[in-house]
Amino acid sequence: MLIVSTINALNDILINLKGKSIGFVPTMGALHEGHLSLIQKSNQKADITICSIFVNPTQFNQQADFDQYPKTVDNDIRLLKNNNCSILFLPAINEVYPNGYNSLNTYNLGFIENLLEGKYRPRHFQGVCLVIEWFLKIIPADYLFLGQKDYQQCMVIKQLLNIIQLDKKPSIEIMPTLREQTGLAMSSRNSRLNHDERISATFMYKALFYIVENLKPGNEVECIEHASQLLLSNGFDKVDYITIADAKTLEIVHIWDGETHLVVLGAAFINDVRLIDNLLFPK
Ligand code: AMP
Repeated sequence: MLIVSTINALNDILINLKGKSIGFVPTMGALHEGHLSLIQKSNQKADITICSIFVNPTQFNQQADFDQYPKTVDNDIRLLKNNNCSILFLPAINEVYPNGYNSLNTYNLGFIENLLEGKYRPRHFQGVCLVIEWFLKIIPADYLFLGQKDYQQCMVIKQLLNIIQLDKKPSIEIMPTLREQTGLAMSSRNSRLNHDERISATFMYKALFYIVENLKPGNEVECIEHASQLLLSNGFDKVDYITIADAKTLEIVHIWDGETHLVVLGAAFINDVRLIDNLLFPK
């Protein structure tokens, strides 16, 4: 695996790869099986897999969350080598933001920017778009691998690809959420949970699954309230949202017609660790 940290070094490699298809897997590191499933899928589909590790400051709305984001680069390198990643791109902050954080681009993302994650993490998706555009301007990816775990982010990045100019637009490949046996969605942030908190964290999956199992037209509010209570009575400290939305548009569904495909989404805190998850319904 080649490891590079500058645009120039990456370009020198890319010049020699003309004609090969490229799969790109952007990450913030602290890699787990979920990330590796994206690498494995990219290896199947593309000739070359490029993984980036960059903890992007502009997508964090709280400095403490950015500062505490887990960093395990040596282990990440080992995992990527074991999973036959071709290139690891590890840019420094001043490579991505050479002019600091002033005069950055703003993207018109429509209504999906300001609901759910966007409501609780103002400017989060603007930051995501800045870094994804930056990467895609450098990496002529044929495929962009993303995880369903970040459902709204997938929709935002689809929208981003509609509004930016790129020499080549990658096709977006969305991979299912990898879970532990308990149902807990794998996440870099799980490493900040102690033993008991990790058990509590499994209630995020249980709460969303409760809705999937019990939702009928007419009992939407009841299901959401029960799911929120399940979190709060099992170790979660604060629920940002538990919501049912149209799986295609992400419009919130207050009254379900019994047919529209749905996504059930949740975000909640255990101490200061914020966990998100979602389930599609019907599968
Ligand atoms: P992150 O490092 O959290 O920014 O995630 C990098 C990519 O991995 C994103 O596309 C995530 O949606 C995806 N990802 C994170 N967790 C999982 C998971 N449990 N299963 C599958 N993909 C995931």
